[in-house]
Amino acid sequence: MTEFTKTLCPYCGVGCGLEVSPPAQLGKATHRDSQGNPTWRVRGDKAHPSSQGMVCVKGATIAESLDKNRLHYPMVRDSLDQKFRRATWDEAFDIIVKRIQTVRYTQGPEAICMYGSGQFQTEDYYIAQKLLKGCLGSNNFDANSRLCMSSAVAGYIQSFGSDGPPCCYEDLELTDCAFLIGTNTAECHPIIFNRLEKYRKKNRKVKMIVVDPRRTPTAEAADLHLAIRPGTDIDLLNGIAHLLMRWGYIDPGFIEDCTSNFPLYAEVIRHYSPEIVAHQCGISVEDLETAARYWGDSQRVLSLWSMGVNQSSEGTAKVRTIINLHLMTGQIGKPGAGPFSLTGQPNAMGGREAGGLAHLLPGYRLVKNPQHRAEVEELWGLPSGRISPTPGLTAWDMITGLENGVVGLLWIAATNPAVSMPDLERTKAALLRSPFTVYQDAYYPTETAAYAHVLLPAAQWSEKTGVMTNSERRVTLCPAFRQPPGEAKADWEIFAEVGRRLGYVKEFAFANSSEVYSEFVKLTRNRPCDMTAISHERLRAQGPLQWPCTSTNPTPSKRLYTDLRFPTPDGRARFAAYHSRGLAEPPDPNYPFVLTTGRLYGHWHTQTRTGRIEKTRQMHPEPFIEIHPRDAATLNVDDNQCVEVRSRRGKAKFPVKVTRAIAPGTVFVPMHWGALWADNAEANALTHPESCPDSLQPELKACAVQIVPVTVD
Ligand code: SF4
Repeated sequence: MTEFTKTLCPYCGVGCGLEVSPPAQLGKATHRDSQGNPTWRVRGDKAHPSSQGMVCVKGATIAESLDKNRLHYPMVRDSLDQKFRRATWDEAFDIIVKRIQTVRYTQGPEAICMYGSGQFQTEDYYIAQKLLKGCLGSNNFDANSRLCMSSAVAGYIQSFGSDGPPCCYEDLELTDCAFLIGTNTAECHPIIFNRLEKYRKKNRKVKMIVVDPRRTPTAEAADLHLAIRPGTDIDLLNGIAHLLMRWGYIDPGFIEDCTSNFPLYAEVIRHYSPEIVAHQCGISVEDLETAARYWGDSQRVLSLWSMGVNQSSEGTAKVRTIINLHLMTGQIGKPGAGPFSLTGQPNAMGGREAGGLAHLLPGYRLVKNPQHRAEVEELWGLPSGRISPTPGLTAWDMITGLENGVVGLLWIAATNPAVSMPDLERTKAALLRSPFTVYQDAYYPTETAAYAHVLLPAAQWSEKTGVMTNSERRVTLCPAFRQPPGEAKADWEIFAEVGRRLGYVKEFAFANSSEVYSEFVKLTRNRPCDMTAISHERLRAQGPLQWPCTSTNPTPSKRLYTDLRFPTPDGRARFAAYHSRGLAEPPDPNYPFVLTTGRLYGHWHTQTRTGRIEKTRQMHPEPFIEIHPRDAATLNVDDNQCVEVRSRRGKAKFPVKVTRAIAPGTVFVPMHWGALWADNAEANALTHPESCPDSLQPELKACAVQIVPVTVD
C-alpha cells in the first residue's frame, strides 16, 4: 500500500492540504511529470478541513518543481561583475559573519537588513526575528508580505485592537451574502472560490457581489458586479453605508454596546448620497442600491478582500471602511459573517504571528510598545533595551536605504524583489549599489540572484519540517518528505548557524524545528494569537488546528470576537471615518490610462516555480495587456499587436488583448513576468512606490501610463 505524507500546498494563503508519495512506491503506476520523468505523486488531502481534498492546478503540479533549477551549493563572488564560484558552507558562513561584524561596528546594527518571505515556515520567521531584532538589535526585518497584506494587518489593529482575520472558511458555507472587493478569488484563491460556488449552487438565494474594475472570472460568477473606477473603493463603501443607514439596516444595539466613534462616522457617510457616489465610482445608482439591499437584507454578510484593497496608498483606510460596514450592521462574531482578508502567501499569517514585519515582534506585539519589547527580551534572555524601540526599514525603505548608503548588508531570502518590487528600474539600480547582498533561495537562476555576492541554497517546504498558518488561522505541520538537494539547508538552520558563529550559542541551541516552535509559542501566551496548546507533536497526532488554542483552553477556535468584545482598551471595536484621497498617481493628458496589475490562474508571483512547470507555463506562456475595444480603436491597435506602455518611471512591451473585461480608460497587465521569462515585459517597470501612510504598503495596483503602438519595420 502506498504511504502518503500529509503536508500543505506551499503556494497560496488558502493553505490546501496535500498528500504526497514518492515515485518508487508506485511501481507500474509511477507518476510522471509532463516530460515523462518519474516524480512524486500529489493529491488533495480529503481530511484537511480547509480544502477537503480539493487542489488547484498549482497544487496538483507542484511535484514537477521539486528538482528543477535547484540551487545545490553555496556560491560566492567578490563583486557583481565576477562569476560565482562554488564555496563550502564554512566559507560562506565566514564571509557573512565577518561582514555582519564589520557593518555592525562601523555603521551600526541598523545598517543590517533582511528581506524575507511568506514562503518561510514559522520557524524560519521566528529564528530570523531572534537573530535580527534580538541578538543584532536591528528591526530591519521585513517580508514580501509588506507588498501583500500589511494594510489588512494595520486595518485590523486599528479597528479591533489586534491583527487576525476573525472568520473561517466554514463561513463561506454559512453566509447569505458574499461581498468580494479587490479580490479575483476564482483565479488567485481558487479553492476558497470553489467552496463558495459549491455552496451557492445548492443555495440559490445566497448573493455574491464583486467589486472590481475588471470583469474577472470571479466577477463573471457574481449576482452583481460593480466595476468601479480604480481608486474609488472608499466612495463606494461609504455610499453603501449611507444607504444602509437611510434604509434602517443598521444594528443600533451592536453599535451602542460594542463600538466607539459611530457619531463621527455617521456624520461623514451622511454626505455620500447615491447620485454622488454612483457618479464618482462610474456605476449606476440602481447597482449601488442593489448592493446595499443585498447587504441589508442578509442575516449574515461575509466580506472577502485581498490585493485590490491592500495594495493601495490608502489601503488601511479601505480595510477600515470595509470593517465599518460590518460594525454598523453587527455582521461580525457570528457564523457566516465578518470581514475576512485573504492572504496571498502560504505562511504570511505565520509571519504575522512570529513578528515578521519591521514594526512587529513575535506574538502580535509591536516594536514601539515598551512592555512588548520587555516581554520578548525576557524570554530571549537579552539585556533590557536590546530591542530597538524604532520600527525597522520596510521593503521599500531598504531600497531607498541602498540608494542613500545607509544599508551596509542586505540579506534576501525566499523572494524575488528584482521582479516584485515597484519601480523596478530604481529597485535594480539600488540593488546594484548594495555593498553586500546575501541571496538565499531554493531556485537558481532567479532575477534577484544576479545582484548577490553570496548565494545560499535553501531547502524548501518539501525538505524541512515546520508549520504554516493559512488565511483562516489554521496551523498545519509540513513534515520533510525528501532530502534537500545537494547541500541545501532549512532557512532557520542557516540563520541559527550565523547566530551561533556570532557568539549567540545558547540562544540558537535548537536540535530541531520542533524545539524552535515550542519556544515561539511561549511568546504567544495570553496574546490574541495564543497557540500555547499547539506543538509539532499535537499537529502530527491530530492534524491542523486553528488558533486561539491556549494551554487553558486547548480547543481550537473557529472564529474571533464571538463574545463581541475586542482587544482594545475599552473592549469596543472602533469606527473610522475616511474620505477617499483617490489614486496616488491619477491619469492625466500625458499619461491618460490607469494601469492595474494582477495575477492569473496557474501562475504564482514571479514564476520561480510555475515558470518551471510545463503545464502551468503553457496555460499562460506570455504576458499581455488587456485593452477595451474603444481604447484599442482610438490607439489603432488590435489583438496580438505589440504596444509599448510607458509610465513616468519605465516602459515595457506587451501584445494586446482586446476585451470588454476591462473598462475604457483602464488597462490590465499580469505581474508574473520578470527578465528571466520575457524581454521588457515587467509590469513593475511601470508601477510606483507611493505607499499607504499606515501600513507602508505600496500602491502596486494602479499607476498612470501612456500606450504607444510598436511599429514593425
Ligand atoms: Fe495551493 Fe492555493 Fe491552489 Fe490550494 S488554492 S492548491 S493552496 S495554490
